[in-house]
Amino acid sequence: MTLIAADDQADLTSWSVRALATAVRSGEVTATAIVEAHLAALDRGAELHAWLCRVDERARAHAATLDAAHARGEALGVLGGVPLGLKDLFVTEGIPTTAGSCILAGWIPPYDGEHNTRMRDAGAVLLGKLSLDEFAMGSSNENVPGEAVRNPWAHDRVAGGSSGGAAAAVAARMVPFALATDTGGSIRQPAALCGVVGLKPSYGRVTRAGMIAFASSLDQAGPITRSVRDAAVVLGALAGPSPGDATCVNEPVPDFAQACERGTQGLRVGVCRRALDGDGLDQDVRVAFFAALEVLRDAGVTLVDIELPHADLGVATYYVLCAAEASSNLARYDGMRYGPRVTASSVEASVEATRSAGFGAEVRRRILLGTFVLRKAGYEAYYGRAARVRRLVADDYLEAFAHCDVIASPTAPQPAFGRGERNADPLAMYLGDVFTVGANLAGLPAISIPCGFTRSGPRLPIGLQLVGPPWREDLMLAVAAGHEDATRWHHERPPRLIDETSPAAGSS
Ligand code: GLN
Repeated sequence: MTLIAADDQADLTSWSVRALATAVRSGEVTATAIVEAHLAALDRGAELHAWLCRVDERARAHAATLDAAHARGEALGVLGGVPLGLKDLFVTEGIPTTAGSCILAGWIPPYDGEHNTRMRDAGAVLLGKLSLDEFAMGSSNENVPGEAVRNPWAHDRVAGGSSGGAAAAVAARMVPFALATDTGGSIRQPAALCGVVGLKPSYGRVTRAGMIAFASSLDQAGPITRSVRDAAVVLGALAGPSPGDATCVNEPVPDFAQACERGTQGLRVGVCRRALDGDGLDQDVRVAFFAALEVLRDAGVTLVDIELPHADLGVATYYVLCAAEASSNLARYDGMRYGPRVTASSVEASVEATRSAGFGAEVRRRILLGTFVLRKAGYEAYYGRAARVRRLVADDYLEAFAHCDVIASPTAPQPAFGRGERNADPLAMYLGDVFTVGANLAGLPAISIPCGFTRSGPRLPIGLQLVGPPWREDLMLAVAAGHEDATRWHHERPPRLIDETSPAAGSS
């Protein structure tokens, strides 16, 4: 297995996470050269609006520190010299952290969240903070105070959400990996729409300490990369017991990279065919999905029909629960502790004015909905019922896993849609989460990997989702790596980038 395609050798921004880390360790390239190459890619890709904040000088200084340590013979971490971006939901000391919201404008955290600390301890070099839907609420990265993120494959399309900035930056070779968060699909869906890999770990595999909370019982952090094996390496550096999060499991971290080499022989992949019925599923997505199943079958996997009887209740359940939790979590933004304050005649009036001015429309909608479902008169009818349906959804998965090792589906029912297309219709936006919310409701590990392109209209990437049993990222990674070994989809790059890296464009 080669780590770098021969035609990509000259361009450091095409290298994988593993190739970069290996090359820094062997002295083949310096962290400084890698960082400079990627900062230039950030300049070239500015029109995608993927970044909310860049920290070029910090990154250069960090790279120089790593190069000096290497020169002294010190061992670098597993991600030594590898650049990354963080979704701007991760708290970073001394670097503005906004959650994509005006209500946190100007907030510079006095501490680092555990995610940033772990990445730095592993030697990764932070280049900046990536755009997201406000407080991670959305599926298109259009719920932003500034410019919406563009899909690198077609700039008039959305990048997906809420981690659109992260997925676009990785797809466009601005960083080899990013950390993002997934409450109902926000790692996997933008990864699918941008043609990259997005991994949501089991709930509790990765800390939430230092991640701005949206819906605490659903939120998980994970990597967006260009290959399954890179996702495994980053997850290995990110996972593990956390002093700051009691829901983070206190178990040794499995060898996720090793899991990718297990092979697919003997593994059973479950498919819920009923979930593919209906006209919501795009025809090109359907074709690509069934082609991916054939790839898996050829790789030695046994396909098994399964049922997920409550899957069609997932979206409604998810939106009740996430709104309820969001309304509670976002109560802390009152203008007294963080961010700008709109001063009015009383404390109450100031809080009201601050929140009205600071939150965008989608966040206000969720706070209102969440407050409604939690009020005493409606609690049992909405929140209590949704909590019980959540259990049914989770039990469906456990029952299905008695018959299969991993469950496959499309990641998103449609490829990247046009910017502005769904803004007037929140329900259409929410229905795009139909395949992803189940894994969050049940706390299961899930990954999206590239599995093809649309054949009609503009050439847009399509994602295959694989969901594993609780704590069995290893099985999911084995199947995902098997698919990756048998296909070339993950080597495809957005069209403009081919132009940019051609000799005529002057790149080295
Ligand atoms: N699209 C979903 C929502 O809007 C999921 C978001 C997420 O995973 N953060 O809530």
